[in-house]
Amino acid sequence: MKLNSTNAAELQQSVIRTHKTSQPPAMFLDGKFHNQDTSVVQDMSKLGSILWRYMTEKRIAAIPEHPVPVEVIPIEALQQSVNTLIYRLGHSSILMNFSGETWLIDPVFSKRASPVQWAGPARFHQPPISLKDLPSIQGVVISHNHYDHLDYDTIRQIHARVAHFVVPMGVKHTLIKWGVDPDKVQELNWWQTTHLGKLAITATPAQHFSGRGLTDTDQSLWASWVFKSESANIFYSGDSGYFDGFKQIGEQFGPFDITLMETGAYDKDWPDIHMHPQQTLQAHIDLKGKRLLPVHNSTFDLAMHPWYEPLEQLVQLASASNEVVLTPLMGAPIRLNELQQAHVLENQDHQQRWWRQLDPNFVDVIHKAPNNKDATQSAEVLQPVT
Ligand SMILES: [Zn+2]
Ligand SMILES: [Zn+2]
Repeated sequence: MKLNSTNAAELQQSVIRTHKTSQPPAMFLDGKFHNQDTSVVQDMSKLGSILWRYMTEKRIAAIPEHPVPVEVIPIEALQQSVNTLIYRLGHSSILMNFSGETWLIDPVFSKRASPVQWAGPARFHQPPISLKDLPSIQGVVISHNHYDHLDYDTIRQIHARVAHFVVPMGVKHTLIKWGVDPDKVQELNWWQTTHLGKLAITATPAQHFSGRGLTDTDQSLWASWVFKSESANIFYSGDSGYFDGFKQIGEQFGPFDITLMETGAYDKDWPDIHMHPQQTLQAHIDLKGKRLLPVHNSTFDLAMHPWYEPLEQLVQLASASNEVVLTPLMGAPIRLNELQQAHVLENQDHQQRWWRQLDPNFVDVIHKAPNNKDATQSAEVLQPVT
């Protein structure tokens, strides 16, 4: 392919550099990637007891009683923006817009987060923008290859409109198999940075695992990501358990204007690979985050906790420790530069605790959540639902 001057300049810009750090890249040994704490591995020994719990345990508020509200994203808002905009699209799917330049993180627009579309967890709400309405996309960043983060149908439908894909090591070949132009894809190891468009993007560690089938466990890497533009510093956790890495990342790249942090799909049977709300809050503090946007909840039913428990517990815990948690409606904009210019951490749109209206027994349910000390504590300080 002959490069025109713009392409050549862009390629020159997009050289991947390894960040100067005392921390090592992810280790690839015996055909698998490993966590920083190599004792954290996907533990299949609990599979039997987990299946038994799924069959026998009584679920509370597994899915919303009423539809999760969504604010439709007008396409003009993206095309005309002179701001840094961040939108939750659902679960961990995020749209970021840097003065008109659109980026997607872990975009999942399908009905189900599953290998097949006739079974598996179905979404609680429509995405706030349809795939066909998305403008041209500067880049798509993927945290790891699990179905709730890397979605075949979504990638198939958008890849022609996407200039760049930035993925952890080992994910590129999946995208190529799905028809993505290999020249568009950059694979990064932890602590590597690439410069694309208005952003410097760095892959940073996460504590998790990967795999889309029974035979590819940990054959591709998982990562969290740092996005730095001229006026914003943003962290996205990907999927991760709580670990020392958040402190390392905070020291290297913090403070962050906003952290997009996973909280949801946690469970006592897999404590090392997802975070409970109090761990999410601690990770945000370790990262030196100013505002926290919780993700990985409220779209798919992937664990046994009440669907709204992550959001409710997090806002209760954060208010007790004076940390700022933003809970906008799906599709409602966070205008980061406006907040910075006004010297405020959040506005009213971010304070809507919208999930409280979706279950008539909300306070009761939180209070009665079994074996959940934090939920019970939360209920004690819970204000009446308004
Ligand atoms: Zn995952
Ligand atoms: Zn996930």
